[in-house]
Amino acid sequence: MNWLLVGASNVAHEWIVSAIRNVGDEVTTIVSGNLERAKDFANQHGISNFTTDLKQALQNEEIDAVYISSANSLHFEQAIAALKAKKHVMCEKPMALNISDAKAMISQAEINGVVLGINYHLRNSALIKKMRELIAAGSIGDVLTIRFCHAVSLPEKLQGWRINTPSEGGVVLDITVHDIDTLRFLLDDEPVSVNAMAQTGLISHNNVSETVMGTIEFAKGTLVSFFDSFTAKHFQTSIDVIGTKGTLLAQNTLTQQPVGTLQLNNIDGSQSINIEHENLYITSFEKFKNAVENHGQPAATGYDGLRSLEVSLAVQQAIANKTNVLTVAGE
Ligand code: NDP
Repeated sequence: MNWLLVGASNVAHEWIVSAIRNVGDEVTTIVSGNLERAKDFANQHGISNFTTDLKQALQNEEIDAVYISSANSLHFEQAIAALKAKKHVMCEKPMALNISDAKAMISQAEINGVVLGINYHLRNSALIKKMRELIAAGSIGDVLTIRFCHAVSLPEKLQGWRINTPSEGGVVLDITVHDIDTLRFLLDDEPVSVNAMAQTGLISHNNVSETVMGTIEFAKGTLVSFFDSFTAKHFQTSIDVIGTKGTLLAQNTLTQQPVGTLQLNNIDGSQSINIEHENLYITSFEKFKNAVENHGQPAATGYDGLRSLEVSLAVQQAIANKTNVLTVAGE
C-alpha cells in the first residue's frame, strides 16, 4: 500500500515511517502545516512528495491509506477528509476531542467501506497479549483488582502542547486513554464508572493536568487504580493484577519499546513468563494491512477509540467537577 502521512511529528519520525516500510508498504507523501517542516521530514526519510495541501494530496488515486499523527485537535477534520476520499485511515489517539466527532469518523468509514484503526500500540505488546491470554485461561482466577502505574518523566522535546494546551494536552488524553484501552483489552470488559484527581503546575501551564490518580470500576466488578504522570523521575511503569487464585505482575512494559518482564504467582508457585518481544508498531501496521487486504479488523478499531475517549472524558470531568470526591473535614 502507498501511505500518506499527516503530521511531521516525533512519533512518525521515530517509529511509524520505519514500521510502514517494514511491512512492505511505502510512504509516498508527507503533509504538514508548514512547508519547511514537510520538506525537512521528506528529505530526512526519503519521501518523494511533501505539501501543506491535504485536500489536493488526497486526490491522488495512488494513495491507499493515511496515517494521522498531527496535533490532537486536528485528528477529526483530517480523518474525515481522508475517509471521505475513500482512504483507509490509521489515526493516532485520542481519535478526536469529543464523542460526536469520534462517532462521525466511525460512520464515515462504514459508509465508504474503508478501514479505520486507532494506533493503540500497547495492544500489540507481546507481554500484554500474554497477560490477556493468561487471564482468559483462568491462571489467576477472576480478576478482583488492578494497580496500573503509567507514570513517566516526559522528555523535554515532548514538553510542548502536551503540558501547555488545555483543549488537547494533559496527561489524561495522552496517557490515561492508553490505560483504558489496555485495560479493556486485558479484561475483555467495559468500564462503567470512574473517579479521579489531578496535579498541575510542576512542568505544566494553564492548569493542564500533569499527574492523575483515579479509580475505574468495570462491568464484571474489577476495580482498577490508575496513576499516570509526566513528572515521575527514576520510576518504572507496572501493571499488578490480583485475581481470586493468583497474581500477574508486569514491570516496565508501558512504553513504546518492546520490553518488560512478567511474573505469574499462583498455587503452582512463582514463575517468570518468557516473552518474545516484538516491535509494537510493526505489529500494529501488519494488523492494519491485514485488515485492509482481508476485510478484517485492525488491532484497535474506531469503536475502541470511541470507548477510550468516552472514559477519558469522564475522567477529565471527574477531575474538573470533583464529582464523587468527598472533602474530609479536619478535627
Ligand atoms: P509532535 O509534537 O512531535 O507533533 C505534533 C505536531 O506538532 C506535528 O504534526 C507538527 O505539525 C507539529 N510540530 C512538530 N514539530 C514542530 C516544531 N518544531 N514547531 C512547531 N510545530 C511542530 O507530537 P507527537 O509525535 O508526540 O504526537 C503526535 C500524535 O501522536 C499525538 O496525537 C499523540 O497523542 C500521538 N502519539 C501516539 C503515540 C503512540 O504510541 N500511539 C506515541 C506518541 C504520540 P505539522 O504536521 O503541521 O508539521
